[in-house]
Amino acid sequence: MRRIKIFDTTLRDGEQSPGVSLTVAEKLQIARQLSELGVDVLEAGFPLVSADDFEAVYKIAQEIRNTTVTAMARAKKKDIESAWEAISGAESPRIHIFLATSPIHMQYRLRKSPQEILEYAVEAVRLAKSKTGDVEFSAEDASRSDVDFLAQVFTRVIAAGATVINIPDTVGYATPEEFSAFIRTVMQKTVGIEKVDISVHCHNDLGLAVANSLAAIQVGANQIECTINGLGERAGTAALEELVMAIRTRKDHYGVETGIVTTEIARTSQMVSQLTGMMVQHNKAIVGKNAFTHDSGLHLDGINKERTTYEIMLPSSVGLAL
Ligand SMILES: [Zn+2]
Repeated sequence: MRRIKIFDTTLRDGEQSPGVSLTVAEKLQIARQLSELGVDVLEAGFPLVSADDFEAVYKIAQEIRNTTVTAMARAKKKDIESAWEAISGAESPRIHIFLATSPIHMQYRLRKSPQEILEYAVEAVRLAKSKTGDVEFSAEDASRSDVDFLAQVFTRVIAAGATVINIPDTVGYATPEEFSAFIRTVMQKTVGIEKVDISVHCHNDLGLAVANSLAAIQVGANQIECTINGLGERAGTAALEELVMAIRTRKDHYGVETGIVTTEIARTSQMVSQLTGMMVQHNKAIVGKNAFTHDSGLHLDGINKERTTYEIMLPSSVGLAL
């Protein structure tokens, strides 16, 4: 069965949630739990942002084993060098470079021409590759980029040594059908795509982050970026627990699997909620207080006679003892 890699960014994108700020010790505690949960890639932070961010990434890279540890960097020399300095002690270090490729971001925010962006991307990946074999390149705002330009950027960064290309729906604007068709086109037009992992990073502004991620899996994406409890900028990103349990519960439909130890899900969710101060809504799928609670007499009667009448997953499968 095809294995989907789970890239957890609770400590980077999740930590960027408005109102959330974690200490170095708290980040380490979450990183240890994410390792127990069995994430394939752990994004520990953005080292250039502050001394605390650097320290947290450094300590996580030193301690966490059996998981790829990655740090974020803009396509700039000082970012890449600081990211590498922070993660070089990891068992399996990855540098994660991001650079926007949409007309809106290139023109208004970065004030660069597409040709300049292409050159920056290639140069950044080359520099990162000189430090480590594992380099991820994210085309920020990919879903609003010109597909031919995006494929050209990916073709060039793959030739420069990128091992993972990430297609983010940065602003949560995509719809599942459109996003999967877009990814299919990118795959057809990118030279060397078969040599790399294809990743997506979906935001939840329209409540479609998980649906968009699942749609991407169906056309060949094999790495999903997500966070515990769906934390992240604005409305957050795809919730790890929802993605993983959708894949597990509907294995018949998706035909893929993850390496997540699902019985650690509830514990991880509770820890992240407690340390970030971000309460989980009661009716939240998988990890909400009510997710496995039945209230109406009719439903209780059904459950008492046969659990599967109203339950598609056992609470114990996510580590809850009810
Ligand atoms: Zn994000």
